[in-house]
Amino acid sequence: MTIVQLLHRCRSACYLVRPTGKLFSTKSSMTSVKHKNAKRIEGLDKNVWVAFTSVAADPSIVNLGQGYPDIPPPSYVKEGLAQAAMVDRLNQYTRGFGHPKLVKALSQVYGKVYGRLIDPLKEILVTVGGYGSLMCTMQALVEEGDEVIIIEPFFDCYVPMVRMAGAKPVLIPLRPTSSKMTNISSADWVLDQDELASKFSSKTKAIILNTPNNPIGKVFTRSELQAIADLCIKHDALCFSDEVYEWLVYKGHEHVKIATLPGMWDRTITIGSAGKTFSVTGWKLGWSIGPDHLVKHLQTVMQNTLYTCPTPLQEAVALGLLRDSELMGQSDCYFSSLAVELEVKRDRLACILQQAGMSPVLPEGGYFMVVDVTALNQDLSHMEEDEPYDYKFVKWMVKEKKLAAIPVTAFCGTESRKHFEKYIRLCFIKQDSTLDAAESILKTWSTG
Ligand code: PMP
Ligand code: GLN
Repeated sequence: MTIVQLLHRCRSACYLVRPTGKLFSTKSSMTSVKHKNAKRIEGLDKNVWVAFTSVAADPSIVNLGQGYPDIPPPSYVKEGLAQAAMVDRLNQYTRGFGHPKLVKALSQVYGKVYGRLIDPLKEILVTVGGYGSLMCTMQALVEEGDEVIIIEPFFDCYVPMVRMAGAKPVLIPLRPTSSKMTNISSADWVLDQDELASKFSSKTKAIILNTPNNPIGKVFTRSELQAIADLCIKHDALCFSDEVYEWLVYKGHEHVKIATLPGMWDRTITIGSAGKTFSVTGWKLGWSIGPDHLVKHLQTVMQNTLYTCPTPLQEAVALGLLRDSELMGQSDCYFSSLAVELEVKRDRLACILQQAGMSPVLPEGGYFMVVDVTALNQDLSHMEEDEPYDYKFVKWMVKEKKLAAIPVTAFCGTESRKHFEKYIRLCFIKQDSTLDAAESILKTWSTG
């Protein structure tokens, strides 16, 4: 028996190997109260990504589940990383709150977008992906006992992050405005204004906004954002605006930053991601932008937790941003050219899904599409598990059809389950060959 096999066997039997090579049981210490989880993570052990990425790992499965591009990232970004790694100095720690070149590049790009000067040292924090930006934001600004409003369907980590900060998530669903079954778009899903107003109270610390939204693809209009801004101002609440898909907005729609509305800069943290900007999700670099009086608290969290991010990656993202900053407004700027490329894929996927008898919700932005599978009438009563229909549907689809997606109820609270459990989410930032494979599965599906 090899040492690896032995370790494996021991692990499953709850034994460990001491450095001396002797085995000892961990049973008694595992049951000790001191080994119990901290209260702040109570009930947060289930995670859709952990559950569904392993399900889709089999290469025979066409994976439109977890959101990552299988199209190649821009070559200048990859070359920038290779070059950075050759410079010795760039393989060492850099400034904790963000590599100087990167924060300068971010202030250059976003200075144009916001139409204001952004202080690279005081108004930007570079962190580990959009996730890190959200985490630093919540840990820095959300207090025990606070309430944080979250719009459903929401990117799933918002609720656990609010909980881990000791606060209460207050959920409000987007609701479809019409009962039409075809040509539905994410613009048809809206917040009820009275319902939204009713969620704000003296306990409200913040509202989390996500535009373009994951999973539904909604791009909030200026007037929808103004209504949210009015409530934030009225209740002196903050806004955490997750805009990681900011560049991916399709024809006829405009990405508006809520921080640019009157009175909002001072109360908004805007979250961005290099992974989404340059199709390099594995790089895990993100940023928070906002006023000095808020960002300085995020910096406190960063300096005492993660401290800094990988220098060569920051250098390469900085070079990429500087290149595209110069090209803004031109067709070869990656910020806009990626959206043009994706719009074709979006339309193609919507068409394929419709032909297979499903009802896609056409996204105005982002790279996900949710689709209503009700009309397929797929009987899943043989699946005994006590799970929402969409979870069962995706598991069944992976097994029987070799196509992976993500169940949409992963993005909502239990009360809204019934509104979302007939939807699944598909990712379309994929090569044509991947979409071809999905098409052949869906074509045979519709013909029985
Ligand atoms: N926000 C949203 C809405 C997302 O979809 C994601 C997914 N990656 C993130 C934040 C996290 O971004 P990152 O991968 O840069 O951590
Ligand atoms: N943001 C990506 C998605 O929504 C990936 C999230 C993850 O893997 N944790 O699919």
